[in-house]
Amino acid sequence: MSTLKFAVLTGDGIGPEVMNVALNVLKVVAEKHQFELEFEYADVGGIAIDNHGEALPESTLEVCKNADAILFGSVGGPKWESLPPKEQPERAALLPLRKAFSLFANIRPGLLYPELTEASPLKTDRIPNGIDIVCIRELTGGIYFGQPKSTQDLEDGDVEAIDTMVYKKSEIERIADVAIATAQSRGKRLCSVDKANVLETSVLWRKTVTEYVAAKAPELELSHMYVDNAAMQLARDPNQFDVLFTENMFGDILSDEMAVICGSLGMLASASLGAGKNSLDHPFGLFEPAGGTAPDIAGQNLANPCAQVLSAAMMLRYSFGQEAAANEIEAAVESAVKGGTRTGDIAFGGNAASTSDMEAAIIAGL
Ligand code: NAD
Repeated sequence: MSTLKFAVLTGDGIGPEVMNVALNVLKVVAEKHQFELEFEYADVGGIAIDNHGEALPESTLEVCKNADAILFGSVGGPKWESLPPKEQPERAALLPLRKAFSLFANIRPGLLYPELTEASPLKTDRIPNGIDIVCIRELTGGIYFGQPKSTQDLEDGDVEAIDTMVYKKSEIERIADVAIATAQSRGKRLCSVDKANVLETSVLWRKTVTEYVAAKAPELELSHMYVDNAAMQLARDPNQFDVLFTENMFGDILSDEMAVICGSLGMLASASLGAGKNSLDHPFGLFEPAGGTAPDIAGQNLANPCAQVLSAAMMLRYSFGQEAAANEIEAAVESAVKGGTRTGDIAFGGNAASTSDMEAAIIAGL
């Protein structure tokens, strides 16, 4: 019987409630699929600031290093908003975690079940069958990390700020591998997004992607799109895409646009995969919902747990190779939503009820 060892960082706000549901769902599939769960909790975000004086304490990092994956809730909330930017829970916890585990590949499914099309801000006749696309975003390079990065006063009294966008061919090929594998497992269509009419990094991106896909996966249908057009096309006809694939900053913006058109932050999961392999020879990864801590509804049994549950399914697939169990969870979430468990706000489909109702509906579908 294999043992799946992961760190559980519930974080703040709705994090602990939705994490509970995800763990309960995992326990059910573990029994069915004959694997053992070995997980350890650790503080992160605001709760870690309160208990340890910092958002990502060394003890938490240690728990993560001893694990094969991290199941993450979300961090932050009004209580910590007045802290200096560098100490804010999101920045002081997630960025160092990305760095510590070289989490270079962000995989975000943009999924809207046909039953929930009313939740999308798009006209329903544009998405009669919902939305089913994936955005692959490079996460550790580009303008967010490139040097030099500075602000200085100029001699003429003006002020200048500099960010630098840098990409190496090897970094582009590394994320292209993830995009290729994703497209191969889905509709075999890959759309690479850049700004090659203006940016040097994009010229290299386009050339590298073209050559790499031709060599490694000639069966895929590869297209290229400028980022401004991609933003328009996402809003016009999202299902023209199968796998969208882009660099860090463009991916940050496009994946959030994708989340909005999918109608509910409470439904969207994400995976950030690392460069290294875990002890089971799969990629180490951090798995988390796309949304935040939803302080407005925390502690009221109102949070939609689907995003956290679907993040747990992604963990099973990517870091533990448990494809069948992951598929089963995803199917159970879909049928819970079809069952009309909740509705009424941006976060849910079905008839408004509670986190615990949704948990019961998902578990009933397993
Ligand atoms: P948010 O995603 O927490 O909430 C936005 C809206 O969506 C709210 O109305 C909320 O109730 C709703 N919502 C989000 N997830 C939901 C769910 N699972 N079920 C039902 N409704 C849900 O974004 P925000 O309000 O901008 O941020 C709140 C806090 O979360 C801030 O401190 C922010 O910094 C933090 N945050 C953390 C992360 C992260 O940990 N990765 C991401 C985004 C925001």
